[in-house]
Amino acid sequence: MWFLYFYTISYIIIMNLHEYQGKELLASFGVTVQRGIVAKTSEEAVAAGKKLTETTGTSWHVVKAQIHAGGRGKGGGVKLAKSLEDLKRISDEIIGMQLITPQTPREGKRVNQVLVAEDVYYPGESEPSEFYISVLLNRATGKNMIMYSTEGGMDIEAVADQTPDLIFTEEIDPSLGIQGFQARKIAFNLGLSGAAFKDMTKFVTSLYKAYIGSDASLFEINPVLKTSDDRIIAVDAKVTLDDNGLFRHKDFELLRDLSEENPVEVEAREVGLNYVDLDGNVGCMVNGAGLAMATMDLIKQAGGDPANFLDVGGTADAARVETAFRLILKDTDVKAILVNIFGGIVRCDRVAQGIVDAYKNMGDAINVPIIVRLQGTNSDIAKELIDSSGLNVLSATAFQEAADKVQEAIN
Ligand code: GDP
Ligand code: MN
Repeated sequence: MWFLYFYTISYIIIMNLHEYQGKELLASFGVTVQRGIVAKTSEEAVAAGKKLTETTGTSWHVVKAQIHAGGRGKGGGVKLAKSLEDLKRISDEIIGMQLITPQTPREGKRVNQVLVAEDVYYPGESEPSEFYISVLLNRATGKNMIMYSTEGGMDIEAVADQTPDLIFTEEIDPSLGIQGFQARKIAFNLGLSGAAFKDMTKFVTSLYKAYIGSDASLFEINPVLKTSDDRIIAVDAKVTLDDNGLFRHKDFELLRDLSEENPVEVEAREVGLNYVDLDGNVGCMVNGAGLAMATMDLIKQAGGDPANFLDVGGTADAARVETAFRLILKDTDVKAILVNIFGGIVRCDRVAQGIVDAYKNMGDAINVPIIVRLQGTNSDIAKELIDSSGLNVLSATAFQEAADKVQEAIN
């Protein structure tokens, strides 16, 4: 996964889906997926297994932990059940476990549900083989691209690292969409022929259409399986949607799993604040996304590290400033807060008053120094207000001055 970050890093906000949701989304666009049913208890898992056997004919199932992280197989979160007793025992093991994989936080993630899926690695005419296929945006060329490899399975990171030649890319012009020759080229490079070749061209074509149709920012299907009877199916699905496209897909909002998201970000979204949690120690409160980014640069230059991105928007009144302070202070790494406001439509003295009122209201809840830089309409009155407030708030008017004060505060 990490090697895809190069293409996807940015301040866009994304929404991750669980594997079972990703597969449902793919299937709705005609992509063939391993069939499965999600279950929250081992009883539900057994019922799901029985039901799957009726439709698929196979009595073997794979039990897959549903968490927002990959590498589950390696961590013991994906297991094969060859009977209903197995299915019961394995589901009991996996549901409720704290699953640790190379992609989870150190303490792992709690598994609340499993996907019970048909076993698709059954023996037959030919060996099953695992491929890797992802779809994402190449910002450098402004085109979408399909990355793919014959070396699918659990170790694509190692492939990217040690044998990058084995990963192919096909750039797709977004105004043309995927062309027939491109789908055929992918199937050919994957070493396929006959029915599997044809099925792969269909698979990648509908996969690309699903990517466009859902306003996704990343699809990563690893493995894509060629079964022993030459069918091509998605066995895993990592789907990341672009938050900015969600207004066009109201139904996707239901797919959000709040238990997987940062609780402060969830709270901020509920009160209409644009907050993104980061790893550093300087909290930021800024009006306007552009200024927020410039402020983060400023903090870095001053030797600090931003703890968050927070755009309070146009109305920086006392109530809003207080909400923002409270959100920022939930992060215990925060050693100082930099407020950087440009007073254009909103006058600086109003914002300064808001800060002073919020501070007084919060009392002991504020336990770190606050550096306030207000620039624009009535900035001199604002500075005066802050300086005479008697609070642990330092004012600055110049960018550099603010940066220096932040550095002093964190040292
Ligand atoms: P990840 O480890 O989080 O990427 O989870 P995957 O969904 O990719 O599953 C991990 C591995 O489990 C796959 O690479 C397969 O080798 C294996 N697996 C998945 N589905 C089946 C199945 O139906 N039968 C068998 N035998 N193995 C499976
Ligand atoms: Mn996988």
